[in-house]
Amino acid sequence: MAETIPVITEDPRLELISQQLVNFANADFSSELNISEQRDSIDSIIIGLNLLGEELKAHIAQAQLREADLKEALHRLNVAQHLSHIGSWEWNIPENKIEWTDELFRLYGRERGSFETTFENYLNCIHPEDRDFVNGKIQNAYQDHQPFDFFHRIMRADGIVRIHHSRGEVFTGADDRPYKMTGTAQDVTAIKEAESKTHRLAAIVESSSDAIISKTLKGYITSWNRKAEEIFGYTADEIVGKHVSILFPEERLSEEEAIMQEIRDGRSVINYETIRKRKDGTPFNVAITISPILDSQKRITGVSKVARDITEKKEAEEKLQRYTQELEYKNNETRQFTYVASHDLQEPLRTISNYIGLLANDYTGKFDKNGDLYIKFISRGAERMQVLIHDLLEYTRIENDNLITDVDLAALLKDIVENMQSTIVANNAVITVDSLPVIKGYHTRMNSLFQNLISNSIKFRKKNVAPVIHINATDKGNSWLFIVKDNGIGIEKDYYEKIFMLFQRLHTRNTYEGTGIGLSHCKKIVELRGGKIWVESVPGEGSTFYVELPKKVIL
Ligand code: ADP
Repeated sequence: MAETIPVITEDPRLELISQQLVNFANADFSSELNISEQRDSIDSIIIGLNLLGEELKAHIAQAQLREADLKEALHRLNVAQHLSHIGSWEWNIPENKIEWTDELFRLYGRERGSFETTFENYLNCIHPEDRDFVNGKIQNAYQDHQPFDFFHRIMRADGIVRIHHSRGEVFTGADDRPYKMTGTAQDVTAIKEAESKTHRLAAIVESSSDAIISKTLKGYITSWNRKAEEIFGYTADEIVGKHVSILFPEERLSEEEAIMQEIRDGRSVINYETIRKRKDGTPFNVAITISPILDSQKRITGVSKVARDITEKKEAEEKLQRYTQELEYKNNETRQFTYVASHDLQEPLRTISNYIGLLANDYTGKFDKNGDLYIKFISRGAERMQVLIHDLLEYTRIENDNLITDVDLAALLKDIVENMQSTIVANNAVITVDSLPVIKGYHTRMNSLFQNLISNSIKFRKKNVAPVIHINATDKGNSWLFIVKDNGIGIEKDYYEKIFMLFQRLHTRNTYEGTGIGLSHCKKIVELRGGKIWVESVPGEGSTFYVELPKKVIL
C-alpha cells in the first residue's frame, strides 16, 4: 500500500524562507530567520539557510577584498607602466581577442573605445617602412613558439613617429598549439635619441684634430681619442687607467696640482701653453684647455682635456719674432741712412755745388773746351744728386706725417694745379677735374700722391702733343676709386709693376728727367692708407693710374 504523502499545510515560515532567498540573491545577508518552537523540518531548513547566509556573507566579503586588491594592483601596474612608458597587451588566440593596457593606448596615441585592438589595426600603427619587419618577427615567434625582442618605429594617431622596444612571448597548450601571446611595448625614443647623440659626439671626438682626453678628479685617464694616440704616441688601450702625470716632463709635474685646483674651484683653464712628453720621451709644445665634467646635479665628476700640438705654431712664432727683429734692424739702418743722407751727404754736396758755382763763374773760358764741359757735367751731377737726396728724404719721411684729417680733395687738386701753373703753361697742358669727395687721410700725403701722378703725366707726354689729363673719382661703396688719365707715351704691359719699385725708370735721364722714386712714393702712401695703386695703359696713347682707397682709415 502506498504511503500517503503528508500534505504540507500553508506555513507562514515558508513565505519568510522564500523572502530570505530573494535577499540572498540580492547579496543581502543582513538578517537571519528565527527558529520556531516546533523544531520541525522547516526549522532545519531555516538553520541551514542561516548557516548558508553566514558563509555566503564571509565569501562575498573575501571576494570584495580580493577585488579591491586586484583593483589596487591594476592601478599600480598602470602607474608603473605610465612612468616607465611601457604598455602591455595580451592576445587570446582561440578567441582572437587582444587586450591593451591604458599605457599602450597612450603610447599609440589612441583612445580606448574608438580603436579596435585587432592585429591588423596594430600593424597599421607601425611605421610603414617597418611594418613588414614587425609582422615577420611576430609571425616567426608564433610559428616557432619563441620569444621576440626588437626595436621599430610606430606612427601615433597624430602622425608623430616614436621608437618602440617590443618584447613578447608565446604560450602553448598541451597540444603544443599557441593559445596566448603577451608582450610589452616601451617608448624608447628619448633613449635612442640620446644614444645617437652620444654616438655623434663620440664620432666628433674621434675625428677631432685635437687630442681629447678625460680623466678622473684624481688624474687617472678614462678616455683617449685617436688624435691623442697620434700626438702622444700611446694607444687608448695602453694609457686608459694610467695616471696623467705620465705625459708630464719632470719639471712640469707641479702644474697638475695648480690646474686641478682651478678645476676644483669650478673654473676652466683655457689655451694654456706648456710642454708635455710623448711616449718616446720627447717634449713638445701644447696648448691645453681643461674643463670640469659636471653631472646633472652640477657636481664635478671628472675632467676633460683638449690638447693641441703647437710645435709648428711655436716655430712660426719664433720665425716671426726673428723676422720682426731683422725688420726692426733694417728699419733702423734706413733711419740711419736718412740721417746720413740729410746731414752727412747734403753738407759736402752743398760745398761741392757752391765751389763748382764759384769755379764756373770765375774760370769759365779760362780752361780749354774740355775743362768748361767737365765743370758743366760736375755741376749738373751735383744738382741731380741734390734732387735725388731730396726725393729720398721725402720718401722716408712719409711716416712722420701723422695727422689724420678730413681732406677736401677738390680743394687739394685746385691748389696743386695752381702751384704747377708754370709747368702747365710751359707744356700747354689741359687738366680737367670732376667733382671729388672729402676723405679721411693725411693731407701732405694726398698732396704728394696727386702731384706726383699729375707731374708724371705732364713729364711723360708725347712729343708735339699737348698733355690732356683728366682726374675723377667713383664711389665703390666701401672705397673710393680715383683715376688719373693722360694721353702721354704710355707704358708697356711688362712694366706695369716695375714702375712702382724704387729707382725703377723706363727711360734714360737724357730723354726724361727723374729719379725713379715718385711712383714708389705714391705706392707707399696708398698702401699705408690701406689702398691699392695700379696702372693700365695703351703704349703710344696714354696711361690711366688707378688709386683705390678704403673709406675707413686703416692706420
Ligand atoms: P720718375 O718719374 O722719377 O722717373 P717714377 O717712379 O715717378 O719716377 O716713375 C717711374 C717710371 O714710370 C718713369 O720713369 C716712367 O718710365 C714711368 N711712368 C710714370 N708715370 C708715367 C706716365 N704717366 N706715363 C708714362 N710713363 C710713366
